[in-house]
Amino acid sequence: MSEILTNRSGESITVEDERQLLDGVQRWLDREVRDKVLELEHADEYPHEMVAQMKELGLFGATIGQEYGGLGLPAGTYAKIVTAVSEVWMSLSGIFNSHLIMAAAVERFGTEAQKRHYLPRFATGEMRGALALTEPNCGTDLQAIRTRAVRDGDDYVINGTKTWISNGIEGNCVALLVKTDPEMQPRHKGTSLFIAEKGPGFTVGRKLEKLGYKGIDSAELVFEDYRIPAERLIGGAEGSGFRHAVGGLELGRINVAARGVGIANASLQAATAYSQVRETMGKPICQHQAIQLKLGDMATRCEASRLLVEAAAKAYDRGERCDMEAGMAKLFASESALENAIECMRIHGAYGYSKEFHVERYYRDAPLMCIGEGTNEMQRIIIARQLIERNPV
Ligand SMILES: Cc1cc2nc3c(=O)[nH]c(=O)nc-3n(C[C@H](O)[C@H](O)[C@H](O)COP(=O)(O)OP(=O)(O)OC[C@H]3O[C@@H](n4cnc5c(N)ncnc54)[C@H](O)[C@@H]3O)c2cc1C
Repeated sequence: MSEILTNRSGESITVEDERQLLDGVQRWLDREVRDKVLELEHADEYPHEMVAQMKELGLFGATIGQEYGGLGLPAGTYAKIVTAVSEVWMSLSGIFNSHLIMAAAVERFGTEAQKRHYLPRFATGEMRGALALTEPNCGTDLQAIRTRAVRDGDDYVINGTKTWISNGIEGNCVALLVKTDPEMQPRHKGTSLFIAEKGPGFTVGRKLEKLGYKGIDSAELVFEDYRIPAERLIGGAEGSGFRHAVGGLELGRINVAARGVGIANASLQAATAYSQVRETMGKPICQHQAIQLKLGDMATRCEASRLLVEAAAKAYDRGERCDMEAGMAKLFASESALENAIECMRIHGAYGYSKEFHVERYYRDAPLMCIGEGTNEMQRIIIARQLIERNPV
């Protein structure tokens, strides 16, 4: 009998189901994505056609519960999908990653009415979400946000600016972190998280130009007297916004780690292939020990990163607190992506620097994995804090 994989809500799939799903995603990547990446990447063009195909594949509902129309996948299976997609074009994974973090916040902390209304629409991709936490003055220190929501009858009125919001232009709504009580101490208890749909008072400022992560939109969002019904406050009560946002980041960090594995793997695959066909001094460069040392380190980083992601995803699926495991996976896999990308470029020589090949993209995309969903400096601090907490003397 096929082994059963279970998510944190108790929904299961068999290993055989997982294999079929991953085969389907791989076929789609090979047929519909791989050959179009260079063109879309260099035009920095949003991949509308691929988004339509991702809806068909069910990717926008990958981790949403089956009772709400999602696939209810375990985080481990989801991480494998993210890795496969990121091996081909990391940007694509960003289109459903932050959407699913928003969905996870609604599913874990939302009221029943919010779940019934939003999750089925999220699952089909009819509504696509984003995570609006960062502001011009703060990213790591989210408790310092200045976007303010003031209660007015049955509504709140919101003013403020968010920046670097992935899916901010193409998505229809965002999980919006605001201050409902700026005087509250500790500061996180003065925060709340809203489901903010686009409408009057919610404008998309500008599309931000980036080093990499092309195709997907990163935007500034401006809220000017934006009126939102109180029933869109996630969970229905003020004061838990930071906890709700950070709760979603465990899955977010597993996502980013899985993207790191994808870039690390893609770099290894390209380097392994190229080093067998490029010759110097009368032999393929893979026969030079200097290149072998690089390949050995790259392959080891890939395997270690994959195992860390698997361990973090298993802890998440068991419903355990896993900020330490997700932090370790995110830290190691993203640094591995960065190191493998530069080694891949070195192995390719001048061709690694050419925009006609994929290698230079890995080099541009990898650093984002070290910054997004909590910088790697912060991951080290989270790991150390948990280490002390779990090992008191
Ligand atoms: C392409 C892209 C997409 C993004 N998408 C989103 C999105 O969809 N939604 C969203 O909300 N945000 C998004 N972000 C923002 C991202 O989450 C933040 O950039 C990130 O959290 C870091 O915040 P910051 O840039 O303000 O850096 P800062 O917080 O200003 O940090 C600057 C430096 O100081 C270090 N540092 C800060 N505090 C400490 C500390 N206490 N101890 C040690 N070191 C510290 C940091 O590690 C970093 O090295 C995105 C960013 C990029 C580049």
